[in-house]
Amino acid sequence: MKQRLVLAGGGHAQLSVLTALARKSPNVEVVLVTPNTHQIYSGMLPGWMVGHYKKEDCCIDLRPLADAARVRLVLANMIGINADHKCVELSDGSHFEYDALSINAGSEINTSWLEAAGERLLSVKPLDNFVQRWPKILAAALQQDDYQLVVVGGGAAGVELAFAAQYAFIKQRCKHASVALIASQQGILPGHSTGVKVRSRRLLEQRGITLFQAQAVGTAEGITLSSGESLRADCIIAATGARPPAWLRNTDLKLDEQGYILVDAQQRSLSHPNVFAAGDVCIRQDIRLARSGVHAVFTGPVLAHNLFASICGQKLRSYRPRKRSLYLLATGPRHAIASWGIASVQGRWVWHWKNWIDRGFMRKYSVVHH
Ligand SMILES: Cc1cc2nc3c(=O)[nH]c(=O)nc-3n(C[C@H](O)[C@H](O)[C@H](O)COP(=O)(O)OP(=O)(O)OC[C@H]3O[C@@H](n4cnc5c(N)ncnc54)[C@H](O)[C@@H]3O)c2cc1C
Repeated sequence: MKQRLVLAGGGHAQLSVLTALARKSPNVEVVLVTPNTHQIYSGMLPGWMVGHYKKEDCCIDLRPLADAARVRLVLANMIGINADHKCVELSDGSHFEYDALSINAGSEINTSWLEAAGERLLSVKPLDNFVQRWPKILAAALQQDDYQLVVVGGGAAGVELAFAAQYAFIKQRCKHASVALIASQQGILPGHSTGVKVRSRRLLEQRGITLFQAQAVGTAEGITLSSGESLRADCIIAATGARPPAWLRNTDLKLDEQGYILVDAQQRSLSHPNVFAAGDVCIRQDIRLARSGVHAVFTGPVLAHNLFASICGQKLRSYRPRKRSLYLLATGPRHAIASWGIASVQGRWVWHWKNWIDRGFMRKYSVVHH
């Protein structure tokens, strides 16, 4: 009987596995478990919010990729893994036994401090839920005087979302809508250089986005800050830090103290050598990696190689991240800030550079490889 490889989640790294399978398939049966046929590309989401892109510009259709790779697509959520018995449990009640497992199912947003805001709260993840809700927010902001949107989260995603929301309000002529951004006491963009922080702060001010640096707690009316202030909010977008997916509690894989899958330099589970993981769902034991799409994308080819190598009994490779990663932060209109180590630049040309990279990424996965 053929060996079975199960791909859990259709994240950034798994896209490389699919294209590698389309080029050269080891003699195995492959199953991809994912809740949606489409994967929304987060790098283009702020651009979609302001109308630079259509929804289809930022959606990767997993079906042709799976077809080309001769992979069976199962539309369901993983809800558990019994790694000792080499078996995954799905939300539709089915089980799949596997010989090798590749997990790239992302992370969740930690909204625990904000949940008292109830209906007003909108987590940026799952992205498809956010994409459904965003047009309704724009429509409400257009109808209501003094609409107040608060973005919580001072990382790259929160900053980009605040810029995008403010510019979308202007484009839609929501004249009386306002945007506030709440970062923790550390301030915006931790991990980025002072230059990037100064550029971003200056632009936030120019665009009329109020920045608060405090811990935010959700209330029935909006937000209370640790500084004592209260903000009314019609909508709170949560782009707060990542947390491991809840379903990982239902596994016997070795996790770190936060609950992420522990992997080595070869992206292999520390407890179960036939299980690999990449992207936000895992944590490397040997080095500290930011949870970012950049690493999820660059891990992809290594993940693909190692899956095939482990099935065929060949040598595995390590994922060695570059010292610095390039981040291009969209700031609403066709303008962006580039962050690379201690260097930073900004301008319209940076947006066009970002657009070229993002469109190139999308093109790569809209072409069916044979
Ligand atoms: C607005 C925004 C902008 C961002 N911009 C950037 C940027 O410019 N650069 C950058 O490096 N990072 C950026 N990020 C961060 C980046 O999106 C994440 O780090 C990245 O998506 C992680 O990739 P991943 O492949 O691990 O997971 P994901 O991209 O989240 O993919 C996970 C996949 O698994 C599927 N899945 C989820 N749960 C299950 C389940 N239970 N069973 C099966 N499948 C499941 C999902 O449907 C999805 O297809 C941004 C994030 C946001 C929110």
